Amino acid sequence: MTNTGPTMMVTILAALMGAGVAIGQDAAKAGDDTKKAPAPKSAAKPFTGRCHCGAVTYRVKGAVVKSSYCDCPGCRRATGTLRAPFVTVLRKDLESTAGKTTEFKAAGGVKCDVHGTWHFCPKCGTHLFWKGHRGKEIDIFAGTLDDPAVFKPKAL
Ligand SMILES: [Zn+2]
Ligand SMILES: [Zn+2]
Repeated sequence: MTNTGPTMMVTILAALMGAGVAIGQDAAKAGDDTKKAPAPKSAAKPFTGRCHCGAVTYRVKGAVVKSSYCDCPGCRRATGTLRAPFVTVLRKDLESTAGKTTEFKAAGGVKCDVHGTWHFCPKCGTHLFWKGHRGKEIDIFAGTLDDPAVFKPKAL
């Protein structure tokens, strides 16, 4: 079977060259229609994250919907920072790989305080997620990502 390889190659090359000529002719007939079809989207690479102590870990198997910041009073206090970075993903793509977060719901307020709940590690207090009362998405606090480069905010 060792002689099959080169023969196959020649056959494939001939086929490719034939196809190339045919495409060239079609393009000439159609005029300007030489644009390449857009490259198919590559499958999203899974990414992971965890809290400060490591008791809670998670994995995301889908693409990031968006990267953004929130500086509402709730997010500021929850994180102790002036601007919380979020990576938004679909809830169905987020899976727990260890531990369980505790949920906190603010008694009142604005923005994130009224529209959702915070989810933090009961052992070390790290905030991992903010989950809206509605919708199919969940916001991950980007500081908990194992690879912070997953967070790609648009230029401010
Ligand atoms: Zn923890
Ligand atoms: Zn907020």
